[in-house]
Amino acid sequence: MVQVPLIQLNNGITMPVIGLGTWRAPPGEVYKAVQDAIDSGFRHFDCAMLYGNEDEIGQALHDKLKQGTIKREDLFIVSKVWCNSMRPDLVEPTLKKTLKSLRLDYLDQYLTHWPMGFQESDSFYPLGEDGKLQHSDVDYVDSWKAMEEVYRKGLTRSIGISNYNPAQVQRLMKTVSIKPVVNQIEVHPYLIPQDWLDVCKTHDIVVVAYSPLGSNDRPWATKDDPRVLEDPVIMAIAKKHKKTTAQVTLRFLVQLGLVPIPKSSNPKRIKENLEIFDFELTSEEMSEIRALHRNIRYHKHVEALGHRHYPF
Ligand code: NDP
Repeated sequence: MVQVPLIQLNNGITMPVIGLGTWRAPPGEVYKAVQDAIDSGFRHFDCAMLYGNEDEIGQALHDKLKQGTIKREDLFIVSKVWCNSMRPDLVEPTLKKTLKSLRLDYLDQYLTHWPMGFQESDSFYPLGEDGKLQHSDVDYVDSWKAMEEVYRKGLTRSIGISNYNPAQVQRLMKTVSIKPVVNQIEVHPYLIPQDWLDVCKTHDIVVVAYSPLGSNDRPWATKDDPRVLEDPVIMAIAKKHKKTTAQVTLRFLVQLGLVPIPKSSNPKRIKENLEIFDFELTSEEMSEIRALHRNIRYHKHVEALGHRHYPF
C-alpha cells in the first residue's frame, strides 16, 4: 500500500498531498470507490454536499472504520458549504447535516465552495420566475466569520476556501481572525494560474488542485476540447518514465507543491493515481509541462455569470 506524504497547513495540522475527488461518483458506485481508495492508500477524501453522495461515502467510511483497518485520525475528510447556505446563520447547520451524512463527529476541513451566495433555499440552484439564478446579497467576508466559529467549536480541524480569485483572497485576508488553510481551485497542465498560486503562497495558503486530470467526465465537454491526458508532450515524458500520462500529470502538480484531488471510481485507476511517489520529473520536464499552460478553464460555472462575486 502506498504511503502518501503529508503537507503542513498554516494552522499546524497535516494533510495528505493527494486526495480522492468524489464529484460525479454516483451513489451505487462511490461506496466501492471509497473502500478501494482506502485499500490502495488514499486517506484524503474531497466531498461536498452538492455532489449528492455524502450518505454513501459516510457508509463506506463507517464500514471501514468498523473493520478496524483504519482509525478516524488516519483519515482527512473535506467537505464544502454550497452557495445557497453562505448566509452566516446557515453555515453551522449545513456543516452538521454533512457530518450526519458522513457519519462523523468532525471534519478535517470545511470549505466555502465558491465566493458567491445564492438565494437561501432548499434548491442548490434557486431560479426565479424568469428562470434566472437568484443571487443572495450575502458577502463571503461575512460567511467567513461563521466558518471561524465552526472551527472554534471543533466541528472541523481546519477551514478553507475554494474558487477565490487573487483579489478575493486579498480582500478576505484583510478581515480574517483565522486564516484559510487552503484555496481549492482548478489547476492542470492547461491551466496554471500563476497569479492565483502566488497570492496563496504569499499568505501561506496551500493550493488544492481540482480537475487535475482535465475533468474529462464533465457533462459539457465537447469532442474538440483538448485533453490533458492525450497531450503529446506529457505522453513523451510518460513513456520515458514508464508511467501513465495521469501519473505524470499528478506528479507534476505535487512537485509544484500543490495537492491534486483526482476523481476515479475505477479500482485500477484509483491505484494508478497513487503510484506517483517512486519517480521524479526533472526540472526540464517540469518546464516542458509548465509551457503547456493555455488558460483553458473547464469549470467556468457559467450559470453564475453576472454575480457580483463571480471569480473569473
Ligand atoms: P479529474 O480531473 O479528477 O478527472 C476525472 C476523470 O478522469 C474521470 O472521468 C475519471 O474516470 C478519469 N480518470 C481518473 N483517473 C484516471 C487515470 N489514471 N487515467 C485516465 N482517466 C482517469 O476531474 P474532476 O472534475 O472530477 O476533479 C476532481 C475532483 O475535484 C472532483 O471529483 C471534486 O472532488 C473536485 N472538484 C472541486 C470543484 C470545486 O469547485 N471546488 C470543481 C470541480 C471538481 P474514472 O472514474 O472512470 O476513472
